[in-house]
Amino acid sequence: MNRLWVWISVVILGVVLLVSLFPVVYRLVEERNAPPGPPPDSIPFEERTPEHFRQMGERRAWINLSRTLAVAAIFGLIAGVLLTRWLVAPLRQLEQGAKAIAKHQLDFRVPLKGSTEMRLVASSFNQMATELEIQEILRRKMLADVTHELRHPIHVIQGNLRAILDEVYPLNMQEIDKLLEQTSNLTALVDDLHELALAEAKELPLNKQGTDLTLMVANTMEIFQPLASNKGVTLASELPSQPVDGRLDPTRIRQALHNLLGNAMQYTPEGGEIKVVLTRSGEWAEIEVRDTGIGIPPENLPRVFDRFYRADPSRNRNIPGTGLGLAIAQAIVQAHSGEIQAASAGVNQGSTFTIRLPLQSSSQNVLEDQVRK
Ligand code: ADP
Repeated sequence: MNRLWVWISVVILGVVLLVSLFPVVYRLVEERNAPPGPPPDSIPFEERTPEHFRQMGERRAWINLSRTLAVAAIFGLIAGVLLTRWLVAPLRQLEQGAKAIAKHQLDFRVPLKGSTEMRLVASSFNQMATELEIQEILRRKMLADVTHELRHPIHVIQGNLRAILDEVYPLNMQEIDKLLEQTSNLTALVDDLHELALAEAKELPLNKQGTDLTLMVANTMEIFQPLASNKGVTLASELPSQPVDGRLDPTRIRQALHNLLGNAMQYTPEGGEIKVVLTRSGEWAEIEVRDTGIGIPPENLPRVFDRFYRADPSRNRNIPGTGLGLAIAQAIVQAHSGEIQAASAGVNQGSTFTIRLPLQSSSQNVLEDQVRK
């Protein structure tokens, strides 16, 4: 019976018994020290002296006190048992809750009962259960999304191969090229998923080194320039005259920037404009990618960084993409302890994506390098 309520009850019983025993022991000692002779109540009434009456009164008072204490002990014990059971009842519910969560009953919630402390513990437990439930829903959604996204290119490849075997399509270079494109889509999707899984598990390997963001943005602009010219989109940048040095993984940050610029390119029609602005404020760098493209409706803004999120398909018709680019960019930026935000005044009002990155001071870089060596 190693139960908390039993232990507390035993302690209460012990204390009560000790208090009850005190007058009994005291009385025994008194009687031992009493003057020799018969007890006063056995002496005939007319022979009793005032001292005998005093002794008799004292004795009666002790007997009454002992009885009162005995009754108090019984009531105290009952009250103690009830009180401790009431006190530990929320703990039992917590125990049941923990068992339910262990059995994957993630919707189990503990009632908020008992003392303030117990309520706080129960409320924290419920918060934990809610968080686990959300994560489980996200995990299932991710699995469903991944399956759905993988199924599409596989079905296309299977269909085309079947058509070639049935001689519906001829086996020529053009058909093989189509199949190759589908396998490339599949590879891109699997690669993106792998990167995202690593980033979300906080296992994305970051090779941080001294990086000049001014140079990186300038180089990226050069890479995107021919694409912009082909599409008839103006590509401009506003860069500081000084290098913006930070301790970052240049490959990953370039990848995030490519994702943002790639989207800006995709969602900005001919005649539009894309501008990349790099600024430094204290120990932070800010990269803004502004476009005058199709914009994002306000209700969709909070979801653009969700995995597989693609806005209204009718707007995205014929625009290739996995819906993972922004999720990956966000994961990369967060792995650098930075922030990424999306803003848009609405449909056809253009969009602005902003990356904020902390730049560790150069003294810190030197220190880290020394530790590494
Ligand atoms: P995708 O591969 O579909 O581009 P992303 O994760 O990069 O996936 O983007 C998610 C969605 O966010 C896109 O499908 C698009 O609806 C919206 N989006 C992203 N960038 C822009 C932009 N610059 N302008 C308008 N919509 C955008």
